[in-house]
Amino acid sequence: MASLPKTMKGVWIEKNGGTEVLQYRDDIPVPSPADGEVLVKNEFIGINYIDTYFRSGLYPAPKFPYILGREGSGTIAAVGANVPSDLTEGKRVVYMGQYAYAEYTPVTANYTIPIPDEIPTKIAAASVLQALTAITLIREAHPVQKGEWVLVTAAAGGVGLLLCQLLKAVGARTIAAASSEEKRELAKGNGAEVVLGYHEENRDAFVEEVLKATGGEGVAAVFDSVGKVTFDSSFKCVKRKGSMVSFGNASGAVDPFNIARLSQKNVKLLRPALFNYIATREELQQYASELWEFISKEKLHVKIHDVYPLAEVERATKDIEGRKTTGKLLLKL
Ligand code: NDP
Repeated sequence: MASLPKTMKGVWIEKNGGTEVLQYRDDIPVPSPADGEVLVKNEFIGINYIDTYFRSGLYPAPKFPYILGREGSGTIAAVGANVPSDLTEGKRVVYMGQYAYAEYTPVTANYTIPIPDEIPTKIAAASVLQALTAITLIREAHPVQKGEWVLVTAAAGGVGLLLCQLLKAVGARTIAAASSEEKRELAKGNGAEVVLGYHEENRDAFVEEVLKATGGEGVAAVFDSVGKVTFDSSFKCVKRKGSMVSFGNASGAVDPFNIARLSQKNVKLLRPALFNYIATREELQQYASELWEFISKEKLHVKIHDVYPLAEVERATKDIEGRKTTGKLLLKL
């Protein structure tokens, strides 16, 4: 085993709060991989909106201090016991897990994926969590059929832009909602057929536009990641027997919902989490292979908004929370 330093740089929080609770430090003990884990020396760290939930307290941190971050790519620096034989020291990998905002991250082998030679380490970190989310949403949450109308919120964001491309690839017709003209143009360039602002002052006008675009019928599925403020209008856009897929809370958690409302149009309501679609190594490998194929055959373009040094984590977080980013935001060691 290569010799490891005793301490490392990383970002942790000691309590929940705004971006001021993010602490960039250089004295964090380097962890050892436990049974079934590998230790990854990170090169790139993917920022995901979920990181802000763990910081703010919307999702509870399992302990304090807590190192944020759920995805990264780099090389395996150490291997614990009982790890699959393809995960060897020095191997280039991408992973999903916890504690990614650091130089070294211990990761469950089950969520560690060798990166194919043709995929750059940067693209791997920029794609895996958000693209697997997008793929599983269209394959499992609502298996999208050719010709179906689908509504996507935050369509120029990380998951959103990938959804627009994948929906186009499977022959669906996308209505993309985003907050600025620039974002809407980007969504269009990535496959959306109709683009809309949210009509924040009059959400009924938003619903009317979606109904108009779909010949009065509504969409077969909504993939709503904005949550609290859009849930209601998104729900009204779903057609009879369609799917309301609520998969995120960028504007806050969705209010309690009376299931009797589903019977108005026999709508299916889902609140999926990526990890429950890739709980086994076989499921993860199946979807990861599909992702690498999409990227290497140039069916999926991973747009990187920017790459900041880990030390600038506060600026990066303010950018994603301030709705200033499109596509993926990365941190680099
Ligand atoms: P994004 O890059 O999409 O960033 C969030 C976007 O949400 C913003 O750019 C903004 O786009 C939109 N938004 C709407 N309202 C607000 C608000 N009040 N404050 C901030 N942003 C707002 O992030 P990700 O791609 O990382 O994640 C997208 C969503 O998907 C998140 O809700 C995340 O939690 C969810 N997710 C869920 C997963 C699951 O397993 N269920 C897995 C991965 C992601 P605009 O300005 O256009 O509205």
